[in-house]
Amino acid sequence: MAQLSGDVLVIGAGPAGLAAAYYLERAGIRYTVVDRAGEVGATWAHLYPSLRLNTASFVTYLPGRRMPIGTPIYPSGKQLYDYIVDYARAHPFNIQLGVDVRRISASGAGWLAETSAGDVVFPCVIAATGRYSKPFMPDLPGREGFRGRILHAQAYRAASDYAGQRVLAVGAGPSGVDIALELVEHAAAPVYLSVRSDIVVARRYPYGLPDTAWHLIARSLLPRERRKPFLDKVLYQPFPDSHKTGLTFARDRTHRRGTSTPVRGRAVLDAIQSGQIVPVPGVARFHPHAVELADGSQLDVETVILSTGYRPALDYLDIETPLDAQWYPVRRDNLDEGGSTEIASAPGIYLVGRYYRGLGPLNNIRHEAKRAIEEISARLANKKDVPAHAPSASSHVSG
Ligand SMILES: Cc1cc2nc3c(=O)[nH]c(=O)nc-3n(C[C@H](O)[C@H](O)[C@H](O)COP(=O)(O)OP(=O)(O)OC[C@H]3O[C@@H](n4cnc5c(N)ncnc54)[C@H](O)[C@@H]3O)c2cc1C
Repeated sequence: MAQLSGDVLVIGAGPAGLAAAYYLERAGIRYTVVDRAGEVGATWAHLYPSLRLNTASFVTYLPGRRMPIGTPIYPSGKQLYDYIVDYARAHPFNIQLGVDVRRISASGAGWLAETSAGDVVFPCVIAATGRYSKPFMPDLPGREGFRGRILHAQAYRAASDYAGQRVLAVGAGPSGVDIALELVEHAAAPVYLSVRSDIVVARRYPYGLPDTAWHLIARSLLPRERRKPFLDKVLYQPFPDSHKTGLTFARDRTHRRGTSTPVRGRAVLDAIQSGQIVPVPGVARFHPHAVELADGSQLDVETVILSTGYRPALDYLDIETPLDAQWYPVRRDNLDEGGSTEIASAPGIYLVGRYYRGLGPLNNIRHEAKRAIEEISARLANKKDVPAHAPSASSHVSG
């Protein structure tokens, strides 16, 4: 049976939990990292094979160890996974795998963790459970009656599983487009790509430099308010032939109507121009043997793969808290301004892996983890000043 002990429970042994463990070790704070999976970096263990990171390897790494020399500028998902596993092996982290955290609730001056390995009270908890285990499925009418298969991108493994099938890929972000492109090799032709509003396509190497390098240049040379307009101009230079695709391309991230993360590179344009991928409007409803689109037309497909995003995987937090615009519990103040990772209404619970902006979550995680451990060190040092918690509240943090 796993031993859960220490002053800090870190939930999740993905990049955020491992970064937290790194700084906890350095601070000499006793902790246990738990993960319900049987391996570290579980999210990255099963992602689709063509996945390439959108953030460059020179900013995408965990504290104290860069990705190995020879790693491409945009590594594959598998390369990131190998790096995470090596990172965990190279450090003496206290990780207990196969431990599911079912509930965290206030208990005296600490937090009661109810887990598959028993119940333990910890003074501090780091929630590093990411988003991947909470896929978001839009509530489309008729879904239950559809005779084909509907799955979320989270359950997608390999295009060969859909050999010869008529497939509709839904979603104009990187996952939706990557999956549609992979399917071209295996599924029945053409592969349909449903784009509800518009798509943003960025260049991977604008003016010969990786886009991440332009982010760094903007940060070092420009005042904050001029960075986004500059980056919009550099990263989103239009592809002159994009009007021939029948898709609406947003000029840049600022002017998009939808919410999808930008797609890198022109592969999707080429596949549309060659007829391998056919763009179609958003999904309106399902019929037993067809999908009805927003323009009223019907598509006869067997499989629908929804790349419709994720929500924070924090349902185990049994706390009363307002949520912010990205469905995370509101923190004490804004981390952008060098602020806090601590949940405002739950002192002693910290979020790492919250920030997806700028240079990307895998870069931001280093800064968030460091900040969380600074806050925890201060809290443990002043333990006697810690206010008692309000009695356990009943509402869960579910988005
Ligand atoms: C397809 C895809 C591509 C991405 N590409 C990039 C990119 O290019 N650049 C970038 O910076 N970021 C990228 N990200 C986003 C982000 O960096 C990753 O999702 C990253 O894995 C987040 O790390 P994390 O540790 O916060 O969460 P995860 O890696 O998801 O780890 C969370 C862990 O918590 C565990 N867990 C969850 N709930 C419980 C529970 N109740 N009890 C115990 N354990 C639990 C899970 O098993 C999991 O191992 C991508 C994400 C996806 C899905």
